[in-house]
Amino acid sequence: MANIYQEQRIAIMTLASPKEASSGEDLGKEIYNFMAELYPICRSITGEGVRETLRAIQKRIPLEMHEVPSGTKVFDWTVPQEWNVSDAYIMNQEGKRVVDFKAHNLHLMSYSSPVRKKMPLAELRPHLFTLPDHPEWIPYRTSYYKENWGFCLRHTDLERLPNDEYDVVIDSSLQPGSLTYGEFYVPGEISDEILVSCHVCHPSMCNDNLSGITVAVKLAETMATRQRRYSYRFLFIPGTIGSITWLALNEQTVSRIKHGLVLTGVGDAGNITYKKSRQGNAEIDRAVAHVLRHSGKTYTIIDFFPYGYDERQYCSPGFDLPVGCFMRAPHGQYPEYHSSADNLDFVKTDSLVQSYAQCLEVWELLEGNRMYMNQNQKCEPQLGRRGLYRAVAGQQEKQWTELALFWVLNASDGRHTLLDIAERADLPFGKIQSAAEALLEVGLLKECQRPRNT
Ligand code: ZN
Repeated sequence: MANIYQEQRIAIMTLASPKEASSGEDLGKEIYNFMAELYPICRSITGEGVRETLRAIQKRIPLEMHEVPSGTKVFDWTVPQEWNVSDAYIMNQEGKRVVDFKAHNLHLMSYSSPVRKKMPLAELRPHLFTLPDHPEWIPYRTSYYKENWGFCLRHTDLERLPNDEYDVVIDSSLQPGSLTYGEFYVPGEISDEILVSCHVCHPSMCNDNLSGITVAVKLAETMATRQRRYSYRFLFIPGTIGSITWLALNEQTVSRIKHGLVLTGVGDAGNITYKKSRQGNAEIDRAVAHVLRHSGKTYTIIDFFPYGYDERQYCSPGFDLPVGCFMRAPHGQYPEYHSSADNLDFVKTDSLVQSYAQCLEVWELLEGNRMYMNQNQKCEPQLGRRGLYRAVAGQQEKQWTELALFWVLNASDGRHTLLDIAERADLPFGKIQSAAEALLEVGLLKECQRPRNT
């Protein structure tokens, strides 16, 4: 039986070979260029920036846009007022903008309330934020749930500001509107779902959050063209309030989510970090661990903790969904995090491609993680007469090994999935899966129903 994901597996494998390296390069460039297109947009948890971002994604995948009105109760939270901004600056007495939102959108604290006032530096100072340790970087600050205003600037620029009067203008609006999120559902053979969630609420920063968005879009494009057993759901939502809102609106159907990944920070030069779901030993946790273990690359797996990205909501005790977080340098643990230094130079095309390929490999594993029953359980079957044992011809080309055949035969007793077997044999999943396919072809295995673990 041909593996429906064979084509994809070949694609992933060949990314490493010099001949096909150019296809990996093209893919990296494609993801990167989309990131560069989205980079200038001023996003926040609500507002036109999110809509503009989702409309750009819609040109690639038929994303559905949802609008949830301000004031909607979502569990213990309320959908906030919509925030939009057209201009913001601090102007000196010579009429020069010394801090200008139009030069970099990080200059304005997100959700700043409207201001139009002349004030001395002493009055302005509590509203100015810098990073003294990185004096050339602009910090990223927000004040979503407490009305406030502020500007973020380079520390070197702050030090140059004379003790003078300044015109402070924030041309923003905070009004009843809606929270916007995007959802792309790709139906499979079964209604069981694989969830991919990424946040879309950060202004001009690349690793956090454009890398997650752009890799998720490419994954969605790929999955939409593949034959698949699982259904896939891609969410493009504002952080925290977006996942809370989505969970509140979809509470009745979340049990369909069998595996999930929050995708974020997947473009930096660091190694892959996987943060396990709250369950800790869910199939997604084991699948990612297995793929990383056999990837030949350095990686880190960390236990769940209730801080970080939207896994906090998916893994809250009332949901406890099998959703882990796939990233590279962990949340907050790189100096460029939440600053203007998280820019287009900070992300690497190789990292974007590797993150994409590893996620696909995880899904390939989940798609292929079937359970079989050995049809010849009393002693080993005679493999030689079936052409499976020490075959001389074509031995070099085959994916499986004899050891993998013996493992699959021995452990296929209707209680072990192929992942169980791959883990126990400490062999790559692909080898075990190929062995199972070879045994299926000669009638030595039959697929059996996996017990539902829901
Ligand atoms: Zn962030």
